[in-house]
Amino acid sequence: MSDNENLWNDVPVYAWISLARRGMEKISLEQCFLKGCDNQDRNLLEPFKKESYEDEKRQVTIVHIKCNKCNRVFQLKMESLKKVARPTKPDDNKSEDEQALSMGLVYALDEKGNDLGHIGFY
Ligand SMILES: [Zn+2]
Repeated sequence: MSDNENLWNDVPVYAWISLARRGMEKISLEQCFLKGCDNQDRNLLEPFKKESYEDEKRQVTIVHIKCNKCNRVFQLKMESLKKVARPTKPDDNKSEDEQALSMGLVYALDEKGNDLGHIGFY
């Protein structure tokens, strides 16, 4: 087991996808999101690099993962918004900051960073 195993700590285990009329469905993020690959075995997935950055609105973490089934690389991008805009009480930003939005968004990207689609929420 390498240090890179720790990169899994930055990946939520599950994401929620919304189904138009049937509520939400939970899916595992420990799978390969590349087209034509059905790998759902975490043991065949190898996270090897992490990037993170933030601006005033969001915190973004990108984990690069090698799939040892299709031998390709994809990226999981986790984007969490820091806070919800509060149109009222613009000056009261102390206590409001405590209410940081706990929900984040997950996207899958291919090796070159092309968007494979919005996966869901975590
Ligand atoms: Zn794959």
